[in-house]
Amino acid sequence: MVVGEMAQETDLVVIGAGPGGYTAALRAAELGIKTILIESRPKPGGVCLHEGCIPSKALLHAAEMINTARSASSFGLHFAEPEIKIEELRNWKLGVTDKLAQGIEGMCKSRQVDIINGTAHFESSKELRVDRENDSTVRLKFKHAILASGSRPTRIPALYKDPKQMDSARIFDSSGALRLERVPKTMLIVGGGYIGLEMGSVYAALGSAVTVVEMTDGLLPGVDRDLVKPLANHLKTTFKDIFLSCKVSGLNDNGTEVECVFEGAGAPTTAKFEAVLVAVGRRPNSENLGLENTGVEIDKHGFVQIDHLCATADKRIYAIGDVSGQPMLAHRAMRQGQVVAEVLAGHKSAFDNRAIPAVVFTEPEIAWCGITENEAKEQGKTIGVAKFPWSASGRAMTLADPVGQTKVIYAPDSTLVLGVGIVGPRAGELIAEGVLAVENGNVLEDLVVTIHPHPTLSETVMEASMIGLSRLERQRQKEKASM
Ligand SMILES: Cc1cc2nc3c(=O)[nH]c(=O)nc-3n(C[C@H](O)[C@H](O)[C@H](O)COP(=O)(O)OP(=O)(O)OC[C@H]3O[C@@H](n4cnc5c(N)ncnc54)[C@H](O)[C@@H]3O)c2cc1C
Repeated sequence: MVVGEMAQETDLVVIGAGPGGYTAALRAAELGIKTILIESRPKPGGVCLHEGCIPSKALLHAAEMINTARSASSFGLHFAEPEIKIEELRNWKLGVTDKLAQGIEGMCKSRQVDIINGTAHFESSKELRVDRENDSTVRLKFKHAILASGSRPTRIPALYKDPKQMDSARIFDSSGALRLERVPKTMLIVGGGYIGLEMGSVYAALGSAVTVVEMTDGLLPGVDRDLVKPLANHLKTTFKDIFLSCKVSGLNDNGTEVECVFEGAGAPTTAKFEAVLVAVGRRPNSENLGLENTGVEIDKHGFVQIDHLCATADKRIYAIGDVSGQPMLAHRAMRQGQVVAEVLAGHKSAFDNRAIPAVVFTEPEIAWCGITENEAKEQGKTIGVAKFPWSASGRAMTLADPVGQTKVIYAPDSTLVLGVGIVGPRAGELIAEGVLAVENGNVLEDLVVTIHPHPTLSETVMEASMIGLSRLERQRQKEKASM
C-alpha cells in the first residue's frame, strides 16, 4: 500500500447514493449486512434529490401557486401578479433538498452505514478503489457490490456550431435549468418529453416565453394520446409555440443569444432565444467505473444487463436504478434496492412488479400504470377500456378544474385490471390506487365495491370501473337476448 491509501473490508459496498443506492444500503444494514455507501457528490440523494425529482417538483409547486392565483379570477378571486424573488425561491428549493439530504445522512448514521465520499472504480470482482478529493485512496474488499451509479443528461455535440458551447451559460440541460440562475425572456426547449414539459411549465409560470420543439408528431411520445390531449391543449395557452415533427439542427451562442436552426414544417428556419434547454433523454453512468475488470455485461445503449434479482453476469455484482435500464424512474430504483438487499440477506425477493407507475407533473398531471392502450395495440392484446370524464366529477367541478379523465384498462373476459391512466390535477397521487389494483390482480368489481370517499377525485377510479362493468353487463344481456 502506498502513502495516502487506506484499506477496508465490507460485506456489501453500494456505489451511488441516489434513491436506488441509499435504499439498498439502508435495507441491507437493517437486515444485518455490513454496508458501505460510496458517493462522489458532497451529499447523498443522487440526481433525484439534487437535480431531478425533488427540485423540479418544488419549482412546479411554485408554478402551480402562480397559475392557481391567476385562474382564481374566474370565480371571483382577484390576486395581483406575484412579485417573484428568484433568489428566495432558489434558496427555498435548496433548503428542501438540504433537509432531505440531512435526513438520508441521519438514517445512514443510525443504521451504521458508512458513507465514503469519492469516486469508485472496480479493480476486480472483489475489490474497488475509491478516489477521494484530497488525493487519498481507499481500497475496499467486498463480498458483494451494488452498482447504483445512475444516469446523466444526453448531450449531442453535433447540435452545436462549436462543441465547446455545450458548456455555454445560455445552453443548458435539466440540471442547469433547475439551478434557476435567472428567468430568460425567451426560452427554447429541445425535447417534448416529461423533463422538457415540466421545466417549460416552471419557466413559463415565472415569465419566460417558452417554445418547445419535438421531433415526433406529439408531445410525450409513447404516452396514450387521450391522456396527452388535455395537457397539449393547456400548453398551447401557456407556451408561446410548440413545434411538432420538428428538429433543431444547429445551436450557436453568439454571446447575447442562442441562434437556433430548425428543420420541420410549421417552424421558422431560424430563431433566436435568450436560453435553450436541451432535454433529449438520459444516458446510464456505466463508463469509467472499471466494469471491464469485472464480469458485468453492458448492452449497446450502455445499460448494465441484469436479471429478475438485479444480478449482473458477475455473481458478486448487482445493478439497480437508471444504470440498469428503463424506465429511468426513482421508484423503480428504490424497489430494486430493496430487492437486492433482501436477496443478499437470503430472503425470497425478486424484482417482479407488474406495475411501475409513471407521472408527468405538469398542469394537468398525467399518470399511468400497468399496460397502456398503445402497448396493448402493439402486443395485439384484446382489452376493454372504460373512461370517466372529470366533467362529471363533483370534486373536479368544485376545484374549478373539470378537464380530466380517468380510464381503466381491463381484460374483457375476466375483468382483471390491466392498467390505469389518469389526466387531471393530482393524477400522480390518484394513480397509487391503480398501481395497487394492477399489482394485486384486482378485478373491476373490487374497485366498484370499495367505498371511495365523497366528494374526491378518487371516486373517478371507481366510476370508470363501474362504466366498464356496466358495458360488460349490457353486452352479456345483448348476447343472451340474441340467443
Ligand atoms: C429533471 C428531472 C426530473 C425527474 N423527475 C422524476 C420524478 O418526478 N419521478 C421519478 O421517479 N424520477 C424522476 N427523475 C428520474 C430520477 O431522478 C432517476 O430515475 C433517479 O434519480 C435514479 O436513481 P438512481 O439511484 O439510479 O441514480 P441517481 O439518482 O442518478 O444517483 C446515482 C448517484 O451515483 C453517484 N455516482 C455515479 N458514479 C459514481 C462512482 N463511480 N462513484 C461514486 N458515486 C458515483 C452519482 O453522483 C449519483 O449521486 C427525474 C430526473 C430528472 C433529471
